[in-house]
Amino acid sequence: RPILLWLRRDLRLTDHPALDAACRTGRPVIPVFIHDEVVERLGAAPKWRLGLGVERFAQALAGAGSRLICRRGPALAVLRALVAETGAGAVFWSRLYDPDSRARDTGVKAGLRAAGLTAQSFPGHLLFEPWTVATGAGGFYKVYSPFWRAVKQRDPPAPLPAPAALAGPHVWPRSDDPADWGMGAAMGRGAAIVAPHLAVGEAAARARLHDFLSEGIAGYGEARDFPARAATSRLSENLSCGEISPGTVWRAARHAFDAGAAGAETFLKQLIWREFAWHLLYHTPHMATRNWRAGWDGFPWSQEDGRPEVIAWKQGRTGVAFVDAAMRQMYVTGTMHNRARMIAASYLTKHLLTDWRVGQAWFEQCLVDWDPAANAMGWQWVAGSGPDAAPYFRIFNPDTQLRKFDPDGTYADTWLAEGRRTPHPSALRYFDAVPRRWALSPHDIYPAPVVGLAEGRARALAALANRGG
Ligand code: FAD
Repeated sequence: RPILLWLRRDLRLTDHPALDAACRTGRPVIPVFIHDEVVERLGAAPKWRLGLGVERFAQALAGAGSRLICRRGPALAVLRALVAETGAGAVFWSRLYDPDSRARDTGVKAGLRAAGLTAQSFPGHLLFEPWTVATGAGGFYKVYSPFWRAVKQRDPPAPLPAPAALAGPHVWPRSDDPADWGMGAAMGRGAAIVAPHLAVGEAAARARLHDFLSEGIAGYGEARDFPARAATSRLSENLSCGEISPGTVWRAARHAFDAGAAGAETFLKQLIWREFAWHLLYHTPHMATRNWRAGWDGFPWSQEDGRPEVIAWKQGRTGVAFVDAAMRQMYVTGTMHNRARMIAASYLTKHLLTDWRVGQAWFEQCLVDWDPAANAMGWQWVAGSGPDAAPYFRIFNPDTQLRKFDPDGTYADTWLAEGRRTPHPSALRYFDAVPRRWALSPHDIYPAPVVGLAEGRARALAALANRGG
């Protein structure tokens, strides 16, 4: 009886425990992707990016003599239908740890088992399963540094090669063409602008890792904070769709570290930030939707995302260069540099006194590397409401930050066109990427700040004082 291999965010052949286990049974394997309720709810950019990944993975499977069966509908119903059609006796998948996926997967597991089927989940999305990292007292970690110390010497599981052969069934069930699902519909004209910045699929992800190891990792420690330099790996896009395993990235960086590459340890630490985010989201699922610290529930920030200053933030027209450059980078490339994310998030939550969930939701629409754990943790970290968060009173001054991390103005010049005699082509692309209804033109006058930096800072500190500290 065949095995259904249900793929979700593990679109790769190498280092894939569920795929490896399915192949080892010696039974025919039917890879399946389901456009289900969780996929339906994705934001515009991540949904589009996942769809591209699915199409590319279908090609990779075809190259390996297999197929990707694509279906649309509630996950359990689709899997049951496929079981009926194929006579499959088991469904294997890689675990996910966000509340939405867990709720779905728990229901699917119960439903399949109730029907007498084997339903088995595997690791692969993380280096370490969240429940395997525990404090001395047996709890989970709420602070990054001890978490790092607890895992830095651990070896992730041994790598798994791509299967030599992927045996399929004699008769394949029918498949939708995922290109017909319109997963990019909500991206509008932005899709054509962002597409050249993507690296879709396992081969592209491995090439990115290779380039980073040969060119970037040595200087990563010094250069990673400078948004104009292409100093980071850009692997978040691929990790989010599982086109490369975190174990593959970790082992490669570990190897570079052992070989003495400067920057390798800093990079390993960033990978562990990803783990930490998932550790937190697993143990405290409310991190995705509520203040991690309930003491923030009464904080007077606005949840109204139609306010003019919030619209200006979304449009990259706050009049604050670092914030606007950051937002525009996101519309043109689908990602944003980490320091720029911190500055854009800080400005929204502090200078504009806006609930972090407004920004979290907007990033969820716009980022091709959207990751429910890293996004929630990042926003709560900046806002001050999260575990191990930056204290609220530490308010980034975006102008000082720009002078420090963009000393020659390259980042601002790359992304801001207004008032420049010969704007950078990327700065002009932004006007083609954003919705037409925003009616923006490079000939507009660059806006005055929606709130003065000193005024915004004072207002944020006053709100903090009223909250009682
Ligand atoms: P590199 O610097 O090359 O780092 C390597 C990998 O380490 C990354 O690919 C990522 O997987 C991980 N990593 C690095 N920094 C962090 C971090 N601070 N937190 C968690 N993991 C990290 N990251 C996402 O992947 N998706 C998101 O939706 C996301 N939203 C964010 C929102 C805010 C407000 C903030 C402050 C940060 C957010 N991050 C998010 C984290 C970080 O900005 C990105 O992971 C990073 O910019 C990706 O670029 P890179 O792949 O070149 O990273």
